Amino acid sequence: MASATTVNENDHDARYEAVNDALLGTGSYGYTKLMRERATGKMYALKYIERGEKITEHVRREITNHRNLSHPNIVKFKEVLVTPTHLAVAMEAVGGGELFGYVQQQGSFTESQARYFFQHLISGVEYLHNMRISHRDLKLENTLVDLTTTPVLKICDFGFSKGGFDSQPKTQIGTPAYISPEVYSGAQPYDGAASDVWACGVLLYVMLVGRYPFSDPQDPNNSHKMMQRVLQARFALPKDMTDECKDLLTKIFNVDPRKRLTVAGIYHHPWFLHDLSPNVPLGPKQPGPLAPDTEGLQSLDDINAVIDVAREPPAKSSSPWGYDEIDGEVIDDGSYLDDDY
Ligand code: ADP
Ligand code: MG
Repeated sequence: MASATTVNENDHDARYEAVNDALLGTGSYGYTKLMRERATGKMYALKYIERGEKITEHVRREITNHRNLSHPNIVKFKEVLVTPTHLAVAMEAVGGGELFGYVQQQGSFTESQARYFFQHLISGVEYLHNMRISHRDLKLENTLVDLTTTPVLKICDFGFSKGGFDSQPKTQIGTPAYISPEVYSGAQPYDGAASDVWACGVLLYVMLVGRYPFSDPQDPNNSHKMMQRVLQARFALPKDMTDECKDLLTKIFNVDPRKRLTVAGIYHHPWFLHDLSPNVPLGPKQPGPLAPDTEGLQSLDDINAVIDVAREPPAKSSSPWGYDEIDGEVIDDGSYLDDDY
């Protein structure tokens, strides 16, 4: 994808400075770090992906999908830059960390606490689905909490997102505990939006119960047993859960994606509607893509030019932060939770 845009590898250091040595997160892609924009003093989260073969068409899609999104419950994209070693994706920094940590800390949430975050989640997912994007990796680790004022949930990580419902996803991806039965059973193509709803159900269940709905309590790490339970939608509902909440989870965990509740159906469910905060933006209900709000954003041509440069192998292989990287994984102190289950 040739472009006339000039791409400068020094822009990154000229424009951003590190705030501290800590990482916001790590993953198979590389790492995310809090950075200060020198010109404005504002904080941003920069996600660094090693240059070269890791910059696939998949990464290009993550970035171009993310650029088009503008919603209070979705982490806002800012720009991409290239360093001598990495592609850097700058986005809104969310200070409160992953929702996962709060559930772990507290064990589980009350129904009204869980509903508060679930309303935010569904509002963001509805927006995505209206934009014809399915996220395909919704989970507690990909939902961050902004604590600037009252807590606001923000969906991040568009690494698996699929744009265009017309080209329906065919590849089986996601995180085992959140995968829908149709994806497990290899349906091709499958409905990405319906699978997102299933994952939202898992997210809600974990908030409420403090464990994964389809893991075997006696053998929680057995992924084969879990898959069998998912395929039969076999899960236990705690006795003290309200009937409305049980009803919602049961309607989400329908093995048949065509009979599963949609995001619009969740909106009309009585459990969802309790204490609906005026801050929850319930988006327009008309189907079809909305005009993306891309005013002031880096142009698609510029983004593609940066990505093209980043696809070239790095000039030198060391990380700009002095961390050793083995197979693309940042070695950390092990404090990052092993929660990919
Ligand atoms: P991966 O594809 O490896 O899961 P993510 O985009 O989910 O990458 O980022 C990994 C982690 O980095 C997140 O789970 C979160 O803890 C942190 N992170 C990502 N984006 C941000 C952000 N905008 N603000 C704060 N933390 C973030
Ligand atoms: Mg993630």
